[in-house]
Amino acid sequence: MKEKNIVILGGGFGGLRVALDLEKYLGKGYKIILVDQNTFHLYTASLYEVASGELSHRSVLIPFSKILKGKEIEFVNAKITRIDPEAKMVETRSKDRFPYWKLVVALGADTEDFGIPGVSEHGIGLKSVTDAEEIHRELLRCSVVRGRPIKVVVGGGGFTGVETAGELTGFKHCPLEITVVEAAPRLLPGMPERVSKAVAKRLNFLGVKVVTSSPIKKIAEQTVTLAGGRELPFDALLWTAGVRGSRLLDPKVFPLDKKKALVVNRNLQVKGFPDVFTVGDLASTGVAWTATKAEIDAKVVAENIASLARGREKKKEYKVFEPPLIVPAGRGWAIAKIGSLIIEGRLASILKDFVLLYYLLTVISPWEAVKIWWKGEYEVIMGTPSSGHRVR
Ligand SMILES: Cc1cc2nc3c(=O)[nH]c(=O)nc-3n(C[C@H](O)[C@H](O)[C@H](O)COP(=O)(O)OP(=O)(O)OC[C@H]3O[C@@H](n4cnc5c(N)ncnc54)[C@H](O)[C@@H]3O)c2cc1C
Repeated sequence: MKEKNIVILGGGFGGLRVALDLEKYLGKGYKIILVDQNTFHLYTASLYEVASGELSHRSVLIPFSKILKGKEIEFVNAKITRIDPEAKMVETRSKDRFPYWKLVVALGADTEDFGIPGVSEHGIGLKSVTDAEEIHRELLRCSVVRGRPIKVVVGGGGFTGVETAGELTGFKHCPLEITVVEAAPRLLPGMPERVSKAVAKRLNFLGVKVVTSSPIKKIAEQTVTLAGGRELPFDALLWTAGVRGSRLLDPKVFPLDKKKALVVNRNLQVKGFPDVFTVGDLASTGVAWTATKAEIDAKVVAENIASLARGREKKKEYKVFEPPLIVPAGRGWAIAKIGSLIIEGRLASILKDFVLLYYLLTVISPWEAVKIWWKGEYEVIMGTPSSGHRVR
């Protein structure tokens, strides 16, 4: 009998969890194919430390070969360029085609510039290891060339902006003058006011300037122009103001919401395409885009695909929830919001370290997880994005 393909696009927090859970649920007759443009799984929550140079890129990448060793999951290292839900197949940049029985789209988010002139030319995002390393290189270059404090403007006072600004106050190579610019009246606009105030106080203590109620209108070579005309000079501009669903999704094909995430039903099937499921940043569920959301979505999708494989009609329904959040701002300090509980300071920072250990324990063996967590570096196997090789 020919095996039925379950193709999972993207091995981030959501896609990887779907693959690992499905492997436990499914037996013979099904083939799980995980496709990612990278040969490694990225732990985004520590990326800002790569940007500051505190961690090497080796600390945030876990090779898929390590995670999938001994598992009945076929890994394909390739960049997806087309999804054709009518023909039920996906295509890679090297024109390999994968037909599917069920598809899980877990391609995550891209940086959004909201059409603001100059963002893509002058801003550096923070979505990948390449971005983090570029920020680090840019700061090193400026510190050598300028010979005075380097002006860093962080566009966006959300989680990534706050974390990055706080972390960069520990930059070792030269003094930085950091300004965070936020369009809303306060930092972390989605969080309770108490959290925003605590974070603003902490950043002020670290010497970071915070400018709120100031949408960025334009970015030129070395100047940010705010609404109202105020200008801020910069040597490096970090753009953390927005994300949107992956640009790979064609709005003429798929139903997308305002943030370009896929419109789904309560089983996380894409509206109008019952064989296509989605998770994480790409699933429009009303829950904040976080690693926790991606993992919870993934559990629902894995259970639903397993039910379909067993010929059961009843599916697991999605419940909207509030994900726990930990926002670090500078070394040894963070603020955590878990339900209505708010923890601030060193304890929250320690909690963040343990979240990493807990996560590692869910993807690799306990011994390896503890070893890696303690040592802080993974063995990284790099590959070319479009090589299409398979690692079993
Ligand atoms: C700097 C930063 C810090 C963050 N900190 C936290 C935090 O502390 N806590 C928290 O809960 N969340 C955090 N987040 C958010 C969290 O990382 C995301 O919400 C989560 O990764 C979403 O999971 P996902 O599976 O939808 O997408 P991702 O984890 O982004 O995975 C998408 C995968 O798809 C692959 N891919 C994309 N396009 C293609 C293509 N065309 N072909 C093949 N493969 C492709 C990518 O390589 C990637 O592996 C942070 C995000 C960033 C950027």
